[in-house]
Amino acid sequence: MSDIDLDSLVSLCKRRGFIYQSSEIYGGLAAVYDYGPYGVELANNIKQLWWKDLVYGHDNIVGLDSAIFMHPKVWRASGHIANFSDPLVECRHCHSRFRADELLAQAGVKANETMSENEFNQLFDDYRHLVVCPDCGQQNFTAVRRFNLLVESNLGDFTGSGAEPVYLRGETCQGIYVNYKNIMDSTRLQLPFGIAQIGKAFRNEITARQFIFRTREFEQMELQYFVKPTEDLEEFNQWKEQRWNYYINNLGISTNNLQWHKHEKLAFYAKAAFDIEYKFPFGFQEIEGIHARGDYDLSQHQKYSGVKLDYYDPISHETFIPHIVEASSGVGRVFLMLLAEAYGEENLPDGSKRIVLHLKPALAPIKVAVFPLLRNRPELVAKAREIFDQLKVHWRCEFDDNGNIGKRYRRQDEIGTPYSVTIDFDTLANNVVTVRDRDSMKQESINVNELIAYLSSKLN
Ligand code: ATP
Repeated sequence: MSDIDLDSLVSLCKRRGFIYQSSEIYGGLAAVYDYGPYGVELANNIKQLWWKDLVYGHDNIVGLDSAIFMHPKVWRASGHIANFSDPLVECRHCHSRFRADELLAQAGVKANETMSENEFNQLFDDYRHLVVCPDCGQQNFTAVRRFNLLVESNLGDFTGSGAEPVYLRGETCQGIYVNYKNIMDSTRLQLPFGIAQIGKAFRNEITARQFIFRTREFEQMELQYFVKPTEDLEEFNQWKEQRWNYYINNLGISTNNLQWHKHEKLAFYAKAAFDIEYKFPFGFQEIEGIHARGDYDLSQHQKYSGVKLDYYDPISHETFIPHIVEASSGVGRVFLMLLAEAYGEENLPDGSKRIVLHLKPALAPIKVAVFPLLRNRPELVAKAREIFDQLKVHWRCEFDDNGNIGKRYRRQDEIGTPYSVTIDFDTLANNVVTVRDRDSMKQESINVNELIAYLSSKLN
């Protein structure tokens, strides 16, 4: 379900150790978050599923892990130093800062984020009377100025390239573009082929009000797919379809909660751009961008580096710069989407309530919980430990002997554990355990010798 409020998700995340505010004991650092014990498991599962689907699932897609620090010229070539900015306005009264396009949207005025500073100021001036500061309610704003999102580091620039600082990368795909030639030279890939990368990116985001949806440090999952110029729109449409289906079939997202957003105003080099949007508690917002980028990226790097980045086609004997289709998403946004989608508050027959995450087993942080019925009966605890040790080789499991069984089920439901196994006196007498299903809450007796096969059929 996605009709829940963001506060319920934030509170579950903190209470159960999915997400913490960064440096919380020092008052926190805005728009930066840490992933706790269950959060890191869920995030790892998100990344693994993506990697498996793209890299293991295609014999023409390879992986890459490029560095966060890059030569300063990369960002000049990519256009980030000149153009990677958001329109910033500041409330003169309370000094809160906002994105002008977001403030205008709240006043019912549609702005295009690619507009120039002048265009923004004109539009903002036309509608100034409608725009109210969300923090203090006043209507007194500065002029709009373009605010660059690149985060500078003070790493020494030993490249001799001049005054440019070394940035923390603003997106992971530049590492792919600058390694395109290395990968061409060291593999036998021919067009079309893809390079996939998962890694951190950093942006000086102006506003940070939607939990992990927009953070200043985040992880991207990016596929850059290199194609012949004549085939880019066909490949683009094919990737659009694949990525849409991935969310529905692989991650279990309901079609009703997804929609396409077509970019009407394209960057001058782009051929087509669509976003997949999810219905978050705060409305439909982007989780992934799928763009046909033409030959812009490689041409720019060829121009700025002076290194030839073209491709010789052994069949047509033509030489050209490949075009790129990109599919780019964020781990944090997918994480938040999965929580919103999986979250349920359910009334139980005994009048009590449970919070449950109906996550697909492949995504669940813990796959199997193991409970000895009573913690003060050493023979039950020893048997439960023995079974836990057998299962932990196959799946991420959790051992819990604290509180009554009902409470232990509730704890596992809240973190989305698909199966719980209880070891009781029947286990000692007849070698059977009780397996309880998270979604149906039904319980089944399973012989210990068949337990791994049973769980495999359910989980794998
Ligand atoms: P937005 O318009 O929401 O700022 P964007 O169009 O700038 O996003 P891209 O540069 O296309 O985003 O990045 C690709 C993906 O990376 C996005 O679809 C999103 O999932 C993720 N992403 C981008 N910026 C952030 C951020 N600040 N925090 C978390 N995830 C992000």
